[in-house]
Amino acid sequence: MTFKELNIIEPILKALKTKEYSIPTPIQYESIPILLQGKDILGSAQTGTGKTAAFAIPILQNIHLEKQHQSSKRTIKTLVLAPTRELAIQIHDNFLEYGRFLDIRTTVIYGGVSQVKQVSNLKRGVDILVATPGRLLDLIQQGKLTLSNVSYLVLDEADRMLDMGFVRDVKKIVAMVKTERQTMFFSATLPNTIMSLANEMLTDPVRVMVTPEEEMVDKIRQSIYFVEKKKKIKLLVELLQSKDLKSVLVFSRTKHGANKIVQQLDEFGIGARAIHGNKSQSARQKALALFKTRKIRVLVATDIAARGIDVDELSHVVNFDLPEVPETYIHRIGRTGRAGLGGYAISFCSQDQADLLKDIQKHIQMNIPVIKDSVFSIELKNIPNNSNSKNAKRKNKPNNKSKQKHTYSHKKSKSKSGKPKNLSNKDSNNNSYKSKA
Ligand code: AMP
Repeated sequence: MTFKELNIIEPILKALKTKEYSIPTPIQYESIPILLQGKDILGSAQTGTGKTAAFAIPILQNIHLEKQHQSSKRTIKTLVLAPTRELAIQIHDNFLEYGRFLDIRTTVIYGGVSQVKQVSNLKRGVDILVATPGRLLDLIQQGKLTLSNVSYLVLDEADRMLDMGFVRDVKKIVAMVKTERQTMFFSATLPNTIMSLANEMLTDPVRVMVTPEEEMVDKIRQSIYFVEKKKKIKLLVELLQSKDLKSVLVFSRTKHGANKIVQQLDEFGIGARAIHGNKSQSARQKALALFKTRKIRVLVATDIAARGIDVDELSHVVNFDLPEVPETYIHRIGRTGRAGLGGYAISFCSQDQADLLKDIQKHIQMNIPVIKDSVFSIELKNIPNNSNSKNAKRKNKPNNKSKQKHTYSHKKSKSKSGKPKNLSNKDSNNNSYKSKA
């Protein structure tokens, strides 16, 4: 599934291209068609899933199309409410990026800073306003803006909004926007208090859920081989002799590496295709189609290219190279075990990757069981006492701190050290299944 297939208009596609978003994330391909049809949505998803684009893209598109039919003056047509200034700024930045080739103006207002610049931005006329509740009400009371033309309303991180005591403010604000409107309500959790607020705000909403990745990870059977770097391909070939490996997503660190794996598998008579940034859209789609229809068993991908791959019954994920960012390990292995299906994740670790393994194990709070009985198995130095127990369990679930880092961290968000940078108050999870109410 591509953004084009979601019927996104050209100027937005162009903007997405500059962001190097090649494939929609699960929440995006679930939500965008619903929102383009003008339906309300109740999304249970956290930041880090690509949620912002899931609502920003259809809003931009809908406003753009409306503007072509009516030459109305600029009024606030969209209000996005966010609990914190950081989130508000982030959402605003996203609107600017996705809408950069459109004649749509977005601005952001939040408390704790002078209102002067914010008010002058409002005076110039805006189509989309991103706001925290306190400053918004303040400026409304001062007569600096009105919400009477708002026909797209987004409530982001509703549970945090309530935790922070904004419920009365939110209700006041909702009462000021048009009753004839499209409402998008997002919350990481949906306890009763949130559901009753959602019921007040939404009309016949479609429900979209994204399952926390950690819950899935518990269902995945993980194992690791310690192996010489140059023997990895032979090990992969050996594993692929087993018919149990029905559909295998192999992760390579680099595009070049992915091509090489495909080429070497081919030499062993194993049909595989690579998916990465240097492949054309049609080559990627073709590879994916072959994989989905089980004409090939193996797809080799880099992390970025693999993000939007949605294959329901992926039996195995193979980490040919360990990821450099520990959170990516969870994203990768979470690709199997979709829709509640428990899959297998097999990793290869050579001596040069021992430190990466340490970081991953620390992050997932368990030792990945080591398979020691392969002819390719070797001993590695500087690895904590790994057990080969098949039942190695996580000591605990990742704590909130680690959870906050599991995001669709975009290329830009990684520093040279490979650690994600601007992950402010993000929460986790990528993998999804949907349930529509
Ligand atoms: P969000 O959940 O909206 O905060 O998004 C989390 C991160 O994922 C941000 O850094 C986005 O730039 C990135 N992102 C969103 N959609 C995509 C996509 N389709 N492909 C790659 N990265 C994405």
